[in-house]
Amino acid sequence: MTADQLIFLGTGGGRFSMITQKRRTGGIRLIGSSNIQIDPGPGSIAYSHQLNIDPSKVDSLLISHCHPDHDNDAEIYIEAMTNGGTKKRGTLIAPKGVIEGNDICEVRISNYHKNQLAKVIKAEIGKTIILENAKIEVVNAKHQDPDTVGYKLSLESIDLGYTSDTEYFSGLGSQFKGVDTLLVCVLRPRDVPIKGHLCTNDVIKILDEAKPKLCILTGFGIRMIYANPDREAKFIEQASKIKTIAARDNMVLKLVEYKTQDNRDSLSRFLN
Ligand SMILES: [Zn+2]
Repeated sequence: MTADQLIFLGTGGGRFSMITQKRRTGGIRLIGSSNIQIDPGPGSIAYSHQLNIDPSKVDSLLISHCHPDHDNDAEIYIEAMTNGGTKKRGTLIAPKGVIEGNDICEVRISNYHKNQLAKVIKAEIGKTIILENAKIEVVNAKHQDPDTVGYKLSLESIDLGYTSDTEYFSGLGSQFKGVDTLLVCVLRPRDVPIKGHLCTNDVIKILDEAKPKLCILTGFGIRMIYANPDREAKFIEQASKIKTIAARDNMVLKLVEYKTQDNRDSLSRFLN
């Protein structure tokens, strides 16, 4: 089995983490059976090089919504993936707002860059996308960008969920039922809620519904950083009885260690 790994090129989220880079905003790289860059915020390409993780090896760019802390470096990744636009390759998966624009954001990726890719796939809720070595399901999120989505990724080693930026809504957690590892973007610490985002208290409700083996917190806003994400993770773990860790910039996580089912069918089940 390929050793799927998550590399946190950044764990910051929201305007003030992004402006100050108190936590980096590079998003998450998945390396192993697939090479996927998730939500490349500002600095992602630079942080990727800093860690000697070649951005030109990325096969798919997975973007959740049209805020700069999640999509700023997308065009630069496309240039890297296509050797500066000389080689048509790679897949972009992103919601309508990013690809075409919507009422609250302009189109985020130019036609020049979209034309460099082998494939551009619009992420619509309920859609299943089959990549070479992964299956991706698009799930719901409620955020300022009305087209925001979350993702469920079935990889060779495990099933992974990513909430993206969202506020809590009924059914948010149950969308991720059965995933082994759940990545949750939690902007605020406990008892400091804000519209459009999650705080610590919301994560406990999500875990009650989703019951993953591991929860990883990321996307920290400034207040969360000052509150100490490790402390918030411990609070969530005690309340939910689900192992919870706060991601750190440059953290590398081997996913196979967090597989929940011993006899999970191979990914080839749905790729064939
Ligand atoms: Zn956002």
